[in-house]
Amino acid sequence: EEVKSLNFIEHIIEEDLEEGYTKNDLRFRFPPEPNGYLHIGHASSICLNFGLGLRYNAPVNLRFDDTNPTKEEQEFVDAIKEDVSWLGYKWDTECYASDYFQQLYDWAIQLIKQGKAYVDSQSSEEIASQKGTPTEPGSESPFRNRSVEENLKLFEGMKNAEFEEGAHVLRAKIDMSSPNMLMRDPVMYRVLHKAHHRTNTDWCIYPMYDWTHGESDYIEQVSHSLCTLEFLPHRELYDWFLDQLVDSEKLRPKQREFARRNLSHTVVSKRKLLQLVQTGVVSGWDDPRMPTISGLRRRGYTPEAIRNFADTIGIAKRENVVDVSLLEFHAREHLNKIAPRVMAVLNPLKLVITNYEEGKEEWLEAENNPEDESAGSRQVPFSRELYIEKEDFREEANRKFFRLKLGGEVRLKNGYIIKAESCTKDSEGNITEVQCTYDPKSKSGSGTEESLRKVKGTLHWVSIPHAFAAEVRVYDRLFTDPTPDGHKDKDFMDFVNPDSLTKVTGYMEPSIKEAKIGDRFQFQRLGYFNVDTDSSEEKIIFNRTVTLRDTWAK
Ligand code: ATP
Ligand code: MG
Ligand code: MG
Repeated sequence: EEVKSLNFIEHIIEEDLEEGYTKNDLRFRFPPEPNGYLHIGHASSICLNFGLGLRYNAPVNLRFDDTNPTKEEQEFVDAIKEDVSWLGYKWDTECYASDYFQQLYDWAIQLIKQGKAYVDSQSSEEIASQKGTPTEPGSESPFRNRSVEENLKLFEGMKNAEFEEGAHVLRAKIDMSSPNMLMRDPVMYRVLHKAHHRTNTDWCIYPMYDWTHGESDYIEQVSHSLCTLEFLPHRELYDWFLDQLVDSEKLRPKQREFARRNLSHTVVSKRKLLQLVQTGVVSGWDDPRMPTISGLRRRGYTPEAIRNFADTIGIAKRENVVDVSLLEFHAREHLNKIAPRVMAVLNPLKLVITNYEEGKEEWLEAENNPEDESAGSRQVPFSRELYIEKEDFREEANRKFFRLKLGGEVRLKNGYIIKAESCTKDSEGNITEVQCTYDPKSKSGSGTEESLRKVKGTLHWVSIPHAFAAEVRVYDRLFTDPTPDGHKDKDFMDFVNPDSLTKVTGYMEPSIKEAKIGDRFQFQRLGYFNVDTDSSEEKIIFNRTVTLRDTWAK
């Protein structure tokens, strides 16, 4: 078995195991907020947490961090579950921060009674103006020293819908001169008269992230709560809240941080992806151009490709941008192993074999996947009239052009050697047809001397009377800039690529006429394609997942 070196999170866990944690203590969670669809950045976090679960045989919870009813929806909960399952992971328990609202409320009461939390009746602007700066202490709220009784009464009133939004907040009473701004009496609760997708109107006060997250970890007895680096300064507050509550009998969760993963030529932020959806730049969260898990799935990516990508980039302590070509590499690598080969022509040029009998057809044997013997073979129809790609023919070309030119020979994949004799043009000089002759003894696999003759080029083709037309969606990068959201003076929307989707009509060999949504193929010499969810009985639509080679590499 392959020995992989430990990443820095695994080192932390190994140290903890040496210092008294048992394997039974280990528990992890993946904690999405259901305010959008998961993206490729989340895949890193999913693979990290569930990977740790597999390595240490420890449970991993799927925890919905659902404390903000203004942005969260059941649709997102469902999509997140589907995506995590599709990536191939099984969570131990499906948890919701909203299931802890009562416990959190009870603990908040406890903090008030201990003099560690108070109701502030200032506006959010006033509170912000008293925060101070990183180098200057903040100033205390005039409500900071309310009596416990008054705090309890007001907080209960907040809970019982006696107040408007913004009238009061509950704040932790910590230290207005802490060098860590987050410790300057952070808000724990705000009033929000909004129905929640799970608790409906049971609550009109909602807990803030910092108050909720560590306590949820504690309730679930998560040992290592892994989050992205922007939460590093929150760790002190995470610990402070736990200090007020932790019972020494129980395990105390630890927050540890790793770097967010960014992908080039796209954005990985639910808010920005939502903007692309809402402005109609894309057709939805699962548009095949989106860096969402559902978009990549629809595009034809496999879970293996995404997991291998996440494993290869690993986790880091510093943020960086990973080139999208690495993700594409992993798609190719896996699809090469599993995708059956077929022939399709996307930019057709008619080719007539003048010495091939009119009306005749024959069925040629074609290997389904040279990478997988068990994939077997199929029959491909051949006839007098074929389509080849326009780019594969030139009247004249130099010696480096290994495709078809007048007077030159190529092999038709799985078929015969042909020679281009003449071509026909329209009034504008565009080539409309190529006339060829074929060598009847040169049939692939027939064992004749002629069949073994080497010619430089091999072309893919389809038989015109047998081929069927299908829509093919060819994608380019969604943004023209490698870091669309990395410019101070420009908005990421300024870099949307207007040509990221091209629809063409392609001609396919008949063997894939019955292909089902999601089926993946290699169109020989063109790339990997799959059947799009927009397909119907009448009309089959293919997505280009990725080209065969990295055409972007210089
Ligand atoms: P977004 O800005 O896209 O909404 P988020 O961090 O607010 O991202 P969450 O739903 O809170 O989204 O994320 C769930 C988990 O996934 C968190 O632990 C978060 O740190 C992690 N995560 C989110 N984006 C990335 C990323 N780009 N790289 C690695 N981990 C990520
Ligand atoms: Mg978050
Ligand atoms: Mg977010």
